[in-house]
Amino acid sequence: MNAHDEHAVYESPAREAAGTNLLGLSRTALERYFEARGERPFRAVQVLKWIHQQRIARFAAMTNLSKDLRARLEAEASVTPPEIVAVHESVDGTIKWLVRVAPDNCVEMVFIPDTPRGTLCISSQVGCALNCTFCATARQGFNRNLGSAEIIGQLWLARSMLESSSERSRTITNIVLMGMGEPLLNFDNVVEALELMLDDNAHGFARRRVTLSTAGVVPKIDALRQRCPVSLAVSLHAPNDRLRDELVPLNKHYPIRDLLAACRRYVAGDPREKVTFEYVMLAGVNDSRQHALELAALLADVPSKVNLIPFNPFPSSGYRRSPEHVIDAFRDVLLSRGIMTITRKTRGGDIDAACGQLAGVVQPRSQRMRARRAGRLAPAGAERLQS
Ligand code: SF4
Repeated sequence: MNAHDEHAVYESPAREAAGTNLLGLSRTALERYFEARGERPFRAVQVLKWIHQQRIARFAAMTNLSKDLRARLEAEASVTPPEIVAVHESVDGTIKWLVRVAPDNCVEMVFIPDTPRGTLCISSQVGCALNCTFCATARQGFNRNLGSAEIIGQLWLARSMLESSSERSRTITNIVLMGMGEPLLNFDNVVEALELMLDDNAHGFARRRVTLSTAGVVPKIDALRQRCPVSLAVSLHAPNDRLRDELVPLNKHYPIRDLLAACRRYVAGDPREKVTFEYVMLAGVNDSRQHALELAALLADVPSKVNLIPFNPFPSSGYRRSPEHVIDAFRDVLLSRGIMTITRKTRGGDIDAACGQLAGVVQPRSQRMRARRAGRLAPAGAERLQS
């Protein structure tokens, strides 16, 4: 693949799953599936390994299942990932895929190699309803939640494409749910996909290598701790409610005090756990010394680390990136107050794959409904795919 190129990979419409799509079923759900068909529950582990470890999508190839069961699964079920429709590769090795999840909707997924790490950033919703003012995804509006098969399917596809290469730099070591959407507003599907990421019979990632990033849906932070306590990141971006109400409107529902209390509960009982706070650096908006002092005071009693994210511009964002010396000064204030702080390297900026730039192809619900009423479905993200 040439650096900085775009390639249309498939032009066929998104595939519909025939029968039950087993790709998105956790081990428990798969055990229930087989029990309901009079099969022993251990079939779930066999099938999980075929699907997620061998990445086999055809039941006929699952040779430790009986012939009858293979035939029945061929007739009643499928393993159907979403579909890659375009690939972009940055000069810095970052790869962005456009993933079609319906004829008229695509999400984006990004792989960031940083040897020995390789981080896969995946999406959880088509668009996003939360309207953070500095975010390209927010401009797309919200269409729908991704199903668990569409979420785990991104990892399934990325591993199939990257790990067939012998290059170590293409191994996925970490997963972040920081792509399009607010994962905690798609809770059940996200948790089912997380369970598959962690299950030793599926992808087998360590809990600390999977990070969920939220804008701060407080009740669901507690629920996540109960169900699947992966690493937590919070998009904070402001040190006080007045500014955060403006940048992250969800703050009006769950103000900073409640959010930080939920963060403390999340890591309580494990002295090694920390919450990562993401803070996008917007010139003249949230980047002064006073903001840094406020932030340090706010986080003083929360086990935390801070990621400063140089703002990545997109058309008509209305914001500018803070200059490097301002970001450095901000970081130094936090460090001097004992807050572990790093400045995130900007990766994939030349292919619009950097933090906050993911946009995909999202057809707003109202437009889709109008198209349906008029007896036509709008073309599959035609403008974007033809660019
Ligand atoms: S920053 Fe995250 S939560 Fe906010 S609008 Fe963008 S995708 Fe949604």
